Amino acid sequence: MGKIAVLDDETIGHIAAGEVVERPLSVLKELVENALDAGATAVTVEVADGGRDLLKVGDDGEGMDAADLALSVVRHATSKLARADDLRHVGTLGFRGEALASIAAVSRLEIRTRRSGEVTGHRLVAEGGNILALEENGCPPGTWISVQDLFYNTPARKSFLPSVRTERANLVEMAGAFSLLNPRVSFRLLEGGRALLAAPGGGSYLEAAVAVHGPEVAASLRPVSGRGAGMEVSGLVAGPEVSRAGRSGQALGVNGRWVQSYQLRLAAENAYIGTLPGGRRPIFCLSVRVPPEEVDVNVHPTKQEIRFRRLREVQGLVYRACREALTGGVGGMAVIGSPRRFPTGAGTTEGVRTVGGGVQRTFTAHEPSLTAGATPERVGSGYGWRPDLPRVIGQLCRSYILAEVGGFLWVVDQHAAHERVYYEAFAAEPDQTVAQRLLVPLTVEMPPVLWNVWENWGEEIAACGFLAEPFGPKTLLVRCVPAGLAGLLDGTGFLDLLEHLSQGGAGEEPSGRRDRLFRRMAACRAAVKAKDELSLGEMNALLEQLSRCRDPHTCPHGRPLLVKLPVEDLARRMGR
Ligand code: ADP
Ligand code: MG
Repeated sequence: MGKIAVLDDETIGHIAAGEVVERPLSVLKELVENALDAGATAVTVEVADGGRDLLKVGDDGEGMDAADLALSVVRHATSKLARADDLRHVGTLGFRGEALASIAAVSRLEIRTRRSGEVTGHRLVAEGGNILALEENGCPPGTWISVQDLFYNTPARKSFLPSVRTERANLVEMAGAFSLLNPRVSFRLLEGGRALLAAPGGGSYLEAAVAVHGPEVAASLRPVSGRGAGMEVSGLVAGPEVSRAGRSGQALGVNGRWVQSYQLRLAAENAYIGTLPGGRRPIFCLSVRVPPEEVDVNVHPTKQEIRFRRLREVQGLVYRACREALTGGVGGMAVIGSPRRFPTGAGTTEGVRTVGGGVQRTFTAHEPSLTAGATPERVGSGYGWRPDLPRVIGQLCRSYILAEVGGFLWVVDQHAAHERVYYEAFAAEPDQTVAQRLLVPLTVEMPPVLWNVWENWGEEIAACGFLAEPFGPKTLLVRCVPAGLAGLLDGTGFLDLLEHLSQGGAGEEPSGRRDRLFRRMAACRAAVKAKDELSLGEMNALLEQLSRCRDPHTCPHGRPLLVKLPVEDLARRMGR
């Protein structure tokens, strides 16, 4: 007796209509969700050409018998929903019976499947929605679905597909999110026989995180758990000492479903307020469980967006649980290794530091001392510091430098100021694309997602002056960096650049713009952070360097970095 039935018209009428399959990424999502619904413990994905030529998903789930196999590619045929009423408490990832039919309509599809109790399996072949073959076929228990030549019969849609490498990066990211949200299931993503991702299964969140993010990020992860009002959140948050330039390190699940919930993202990101510098995004993987009737998954054609009945409560729960994980427990919010970058002595210092989980960084600085640099020609270029050099009073909240300058109290944002100094240092380089060999190469532990980006954008990255080579299966040795960045860019900074590339845009941009982006990001990475404690000497050195900038008033992102309060104002406010 088969499990699949065609939905009645009433139920069909209630289903959020729209395109289910728009790109290889959506095919991957649907096929993996089907495998998970079938109870798979191991899922293997194979792709060619970013999923355009081939996207194949194999699982060891419950399989289908011959009758079900024939029905599986019929629109609105599903084993997961019987009545419209069931839409209110969907417990499976699928329920519309649309995915396989939609995929079959725009590709060459082959399904091989066998139920575990049966002696033989079956095979179905379809092209452009027409079933060409349905026959007995020997295969192990489980299901293998292979989608070839996506959109071969709809060239217009094919022409709107994202570039192969963008899509490949997205596929790796999504497979990573599935692995994190389903740590019991082993996931492998292969291309040309090579594993782009291999999560072991076995149930450990941490092992999944090592596979997805690499050991360095995994080492900073803290467990999250919270419950209340019949809802539950669990997962992992990375401490603020590791972060990314974008959101590729964030995975969210609701009742086992991978979702793109902006509202949950925000709740989790808010837990980091005050600990991450501007523009940085935290890394986390959070799984929310709510009673099925608390959430409507039927609002979006591909079910990526969902609606919560009690949004505020869910957000509150997520925020509190993350906040607790970040601030509570041993070690609290301690930030690992924040090396100093303005030696106050003259000349060049050089050395090697180990930061966080073993990223080696070369550390070069050639900043003249206050007296050496403060020649009349160089001080006060259009700035009016002369003759009043700032006298540093101290540091406020480990984020601002307070200084007295000729009847004014200056409040200087230390991070923004340092960023400006570095930014101009790069800009002054006659040719930023010149590669500079590092005395000690950077050893960078690569999360699989970004390894893939490095391979994809190899040419652009090299053109910007980077020279890197694999050093073992998960590590890169960066031997050259763009001139001017030597000593300023650490492993995390390098990963940020890759992340930026993976998020599209930069790879397609004209090189001038790309250079600026690189420089700005690199400056941001290299600069001291808010919360770094600075000595008086360091603060003096920073203000002195700032005084030599062409534009000492704004950070490279265009925000003001300095507020001046006239001492007279203070006098007035005190009624003098
Ligand atoms: P839905 O998942 O919404 O039911 P699909 O078109 O994705 O619709 O799949 C149709 C049906 O095919 C499913 O309801 C399920 O019974 C069956 N099916 C699809 N993929 C698998 C799989 N990997 N293993 C077992 N059964 C599957
Ligand atoms: Mg489905």
